[in-house]
Amino acid sequence: SEEKSLNFIEEIIEEDLKNGKYKSIVTRFPPEPNGYLHLGHASSICLNFGLTKKFAGYTNLRFDDTNPVTEETEYVESIKEDVKWLGFEWKHELYASDYFDTLYEYALKLIGKGLAYVDDSTSEEIAAMKGTPVEAGKESPYRNRSIEENLELFKQMKAGAFADGTRTLRARIDMASTNMLMRDPVLYRIKHAHHHRTGDKWCIYPMYDMAHGQSDSIEHVTHSICTLEFVPHRELYDWLIEHLEIYPSHQYEFARRNINYTVTSKRKLLQLVNEKHVTGWDDPRMPTISGLRRRGYTPGSIRDFCDRIGVAKRENMVDVGLLEFCVREDLNKIAQRRMVVFEPLKIIITDYPEGKTELVQSEDNPEAGEKTYRDVPFSRELYIEQEDFMENPPKKFFRLAPGQMVRLKSAYIIKCDEVVKDEAGTITALKCSHVANSKTGEENAGMKVKGTLHWVSVQHAVPVEIRLYDRLFKVEDPSSEEGDFKDYINPGSLQVIKSAFAEPALKNAKFDEHYQFLRKGYFNLDKDTSEEGLVFNRTVTLKDTWAK
Ligand code: ATP
Ligand code: MG
Ligand code: MG
Repeated sequence: SEEKSLNFIEEIIEEDLKNGKYKSIVTRFPPEPNGYLHLGHASSICLNFGLTKKFAGYTNLRFDDTNPVTEETEYVESIKEDVKWLGFEWKHELYASDYFDTLYEYALKLIGKGLAYVDDSTSEEIAAMKGTPVEAGKESPYRNRSIEENLELFKQMKAGAFADGTRTLRARIDMASTNMLMRDPVLYRIKHAHHHRTGDKWCIYPMYDMAHGQSDSIEHVTHSICTLEFVPHRELYDWLIEHLEIYPSHQYEFARRNINYTVTSKRKLLQLVNEKHVTGWDDPRMPTISGLRRRGYTPGSIRDFCDRIGVAKRENMVDVGLLEFCVREDLNKIAQRRMVVFEPLKIIITDYPEGKTELVQSEDNPEAGEKTYRDVPFSRELYIEQEDFMENPPKKFFRLAPGQMVRLKSAYIIKCDEVVKDEAGTITALKCSHVANSKTGEENAGMKVKGTLHWVSVQHAVPVEIRLYDRLFKVEDPSSEEGDFKDYINPGSLQVIKSAFAEPALKNAKFDEHYQFLRKGYFNLDKDTSEEGLVFNRTVTLKDTWAK
């Protein structure tokens, strides 16, 4: 991506470095620990960490933990794990809650300058006084309290003298501003709630605008990047920094990333978890980093995806097909090829000796630089896929049919001689014969056959559970549809095959390895694997089957 042109944020930074505004840059990734990270966050992570990789500087991980009610330590841990797994290293691990004392001092400073006041109005009264975009707001009756009275009341707020919602601290700016956020925004609220880090020390908590820019400033963040909905906040961000006379961080905005057939909102994802539409935050159908990891996505494929969608100034929907393309590209290079039969049909090679087992060699990965092979046991009775046989095939059926020949992958060419049926007429097995010396490199290998099938030796087959996933939602943008977004959940998003048959090499499958099950897609071992058996997830199909 070296020769790719710079995105607009990179252009700003390059200019800032060139004209000496900064010697090096500092960015931050600022998640609120109220849920697990999702693909939207991945895009912000890749952007923030990517910038300081490209230009001199570093990135902090800062937990924006100013809302005690929704935040939990479990989320902090998962966020750290996910950022690391994506391949990024933060310089400092920081918490907005560590600045509560400083932020309180900042509030006192604003009050001391006559720029903030304690308001006894309820939130409804404050909202009613806000006015409309075309009509100035009304000043609060508490707006002209003396500095002394405000200092005293704010200290009492901190000391716990008042109940939740009875008072706020507001900035004293301009009730006629065309920017609604500048109409005396609330800076502090009373909330008698336990905080995941500060415990019960505080009963007043700063609002987003009284915490985010100030935290940026304390950390000397040079480029504070957020999503477009914060554009109106920038004026307030700058106003507070100016009047607090603190380090001037600057805010830049880029478009939020939305991916089709899913939702990227922690609040909505939490609903899916709580209401058990999925098994947890790491359900392989979830667009969370932990879900994608469990499903077999690689960190490189997610970084590649974020890189390809880039940075935009306008919101748009990104096709999940691009993410699938990225992971296929990566897995094609690293996945070990294996054979697994999902819906078995037994075939008997009648001219192959009973009791004999032959080990055929099969390549682990034709894309790998260094060729390695594994042994696959071949014997008289094999499983092939039911769908790979048709008794009365149409013209272009390139698989097995009565009298037709196919190659068994890495083994012999076989011919179907007879279809065996039970009394009800259901096919129970096929009797086949094999062409001697037809393995690759042998003298009869060159015969023209219909196709190549994957197979597993019956006596060596390992039963495994297979989980196939489809889109979690039936529509591209469930959030924009009428009614509840959960009405659009795809009921067929999970398909379980309880007893598929795998070649024995998969007995040694590892959690950090990726597999291509021939003709079936890319797979990885799921964490539900136990003594009872192996469970595999399909990460992605081999080709895009969605567009059909
Ligand atoms: P959510 O709606 O999922 O709660 P959020 O923006 O409230 O998202 P934060 O924890 O505050 O979640 O996000 C941390 C950072 O990630 C922020 O800088 C935010 O702008 C960015 N971010 C979150 N969602 C997206 C997205 N869909 N696309 C790009 N960046 C995002
Ligand atoms: Mg946020
Ligand atoms: Mg949020």
